[in-house]
Amino acid sequence: MRHLITTDDLGLDEIETLFKDAESYLQAPPPKLLQNRLVITLFFENSTRTRSSFEIAAKKLGADVVHLDVARSSTKKGETLYDTAANLNAMGPDAIVVRHAQSGTPYQISRHVNCAIFNAGDGAHAHPSQALLDLFTIRRHFKGDLEGKRIAIVGDIKNSRVANSNIRLLPRFGLKITLVAPPHFLPRTDLETTTRLKDVIDDVDIIMSLRTQTERHAQPIYASLKDYASDYCITKERIGDRNIMLMHPGPVHRNIDIDDAMLSDPRCKVLEQVKNGVAVRMAALKKLILANG
Ligand code: ASP
Repeated sequence: MRHLITTDDLGLDEIETLFKDAESYLQAPPPKLLQNRLVITLFFENSTRTRSSFEIAAKKLGADVVHLDVARSSTKKGETLYDTAANLNAMGPDAIVVRHAQSGTPYQISRHVNCAIFNAGDGAHAHPSQALLDLFTIRRHFKGDLEGKRIAIVGDIKNSRVANSNIRLLPRFGLKITLVAPPHFLPRTDLETTTRLKDVIDDVDIIMSLRTQTERHAQPIYASLKDYASDYCITKERIGDRNIMLMHPGPVHRNIDIDDAMLSDPRCKVLEQVKNGVAVRMAALKKLILANG
């Protein structure tokens, strides 16, 4: 049984094929390859983009989609997560897309079911479909030429599953990463790090800004996010006229992560990421569901 728990679940050739499929879905109406297939979305944490992106992706390929309303589900009545998963599995889905606040939950669930599990974000651990869509967006932007490209990942890196997945994935495709954050947001790492954006701003081709993951902080770290913004907000003033591709996985804290002017600047690719996300998730659903028979 194939699952997508981390980006390491896919080999380089498999990612290439996935991106080829995603590209074709952007170019022409997709074939209904998943007709009569059932995809369940099971989100124990909030989501706007990821859940709707997976659901739209599955529907575009002709699959049936059921969303389990966790707030009203039996887990709220005390059923264990694994019993919930086993019961859903008994209904014969081809895939379950899971998001959970605890790292490792999608993996644990994958051991109790016989359908593909897609990790749609588990704690601060991983968000593989986001990293894949980020890489896909970067590759398209640079027309496939990633040789020597440098990216600064800026913000609450330690608590960000998006950063963690990108840190694993992007170097496999030759990208050089610098982490930019205040000391308490920096993970232990062998990567290049700095606390000052200005140290790298003249050298990077891409900036990936992140949201401060306040829901994962045991206690408030900043008295106000404005203090953080004064050093790390990606503003038009800071970027100037440099040719830098700007990314963010969303949701964006406006004028904290990125200012209004940069959000509407053509160098900002946030909506491009969202658009590409549907195509990449289509390709991932197709790959795993059809591989599992
Ligand atoms: N949407 C992304 C996630 O689920 C990023 C974020 O929430 O800041 O991790």
